[in-house]
Amino acid sequence: MHDFRYVGKKLYCEDVAVESLAKKFGTPLYVYSQRTLTRHFQELDRAMSPVEHLICFAMKSNSNQSVLRTLANLGGGFDIVSGGELQRVIAAGGDARKCVFAGVGKTDAEIEFALRRGVYCFNAESEPELHRINRVAARLKKIAPVAVRVNPNVDAHTHAKITTGTYENKFGIAIEGIEAIYARAAKLKNLRLRGLQMHIGSQLTTVSPFEQAVTKVLPLVQKLKAKHGLEFFSIGGGLGIIYQPALASGDPAWWQTSAAKKILTPHSYAARLVPLLKPLGMKILMEPGRFISGNSGILVTRVEYVKRTGKKNFVIVDAAMNDLIRPAFYDAYHEIVPLTKKGGAVISSDVVGPICESGDYFCKDRPLPKVGEGDHLALLSAGAYGFVMASVYNTRSPAAEVLVNGRRSALVRKRLPVKEIWAAESVAPWLK
Ligand SMILES: *Cc1c(COP(=O)(O)O)cnc(C)c1O
Repeated sequence: MHDFRYVGKKLYCEDVAVESLAKKFGTPLYVYSQRTLTRHFQELDRAMSPVEHLICFAMKSNSNQSVLRTLANLGGGFDIVSGGELQRVIAAGGDARKCVFAGVGKTDAEIEFALRRGVYCFNAESEPELHRINRVAARLKKIAPVAVRVNPNVDAHTHAKITTGTYENKFGIAIEGIEAIYARAAKLKNLRLRGLQMHIGSQLTTVSPFEQAVTKVLPLVQKLKAKHGLEFFSIGGGLGIIYQPALASGDPAWWQTSAAKKILTPHSYAARLVPLLKPLGMKILMEPGRFISGNSGILVTRVEYVKRTGKKNFVIVDAAMNDLIRPAFYDAYHEIVPLTKKGGAVISSDVVGPICESGDYFCKDRPLPKVGEGDHLALLSAGAYGFVMASVYNTRSPAAEVLVNGRRSALVRKRLPVKEIWAAESVAPWLK
């Protein structure tokens, strides 16, 4: 659920008409709802309250400073995947001691920085990485808290580009080898074996794969806890959200359908996982990204042209794949709605950007209300893996970002002047 809805004919974010934001700040524009972010965090937090836990927001899904501060203020930690992300957390007022550091390619410099800042744990993805963390820690005369990412080899039944928990993936270490690795790691003097981690994939919309993976890994966690005194078990992120229209538009009847009853909610997730996890008596970490940020944001765009060909109705907008790459990259679906509700005819349309790539589209052959030049559209559920994956392809300045809180709104990332795009470049001296 989220806080974007029509009041009369106008789309609102909380108590602000989105069109007023488009007029004030221009387009393309990301708009985030603080209330939605907060609610998603708190609902999960509350649902998991029967076990000691920490929610580490996967900030790679949305790392705007205001988003991070919102979650830090709620007591959240962060799942980081680079030294840059740790610097961002610190800049946003987050607590490094609540950060877990994931990723398969941590450099010496990143490990050193994270150690100096006292991150809660390094989630190691290979044995060479454990050796490297030990070596860096020894040089700094520190003890590095580590967990190993276990690959439980369960199929999350999600898009191939976001499946991470099978042996086809580069992530984690095969479950069969984990005990031996902990035994060897226990001999490395500058490591403290603090936990075990897993993350099986992204955009899982049912609880079953989580339940399967937790069930499969539990006996291992128990053994490792007994042997090495592990303190936490991280069950990762990957909680999916609803991109399809029935839910995104808030149709109350949808919840009565059988499909709806299987859908993952904080409640259904916790109801099935807490009974498994509670007897462990360990701290449970979670690393949700999309679940918190996904439905908290939209991308607002202006219609520049409508181009009719013999076969197609192309709606050409001022946002493009450089602003939101998910449709091109993951075949992702985003609901597209006008900021001012239209009655009347619906027409099968392709909404496309101005970039010189056939992949630059947001939808194909989708029934949409008839729109014309100057109308505004919103791409819903764009708060996760949206702006953070933006590029400057075609020398397009990245979108601006706005945070809404009740009646208030603030520009939380300004639109950069185009010449900043090449500010770090120079002409080689022999060309001058
Ligand atoms: C990306 C990632 C997450 C978050 O994934 P979501 O699908 O956004 O919840 C969590 N943990 C790790 C290790 C990740 O790489």
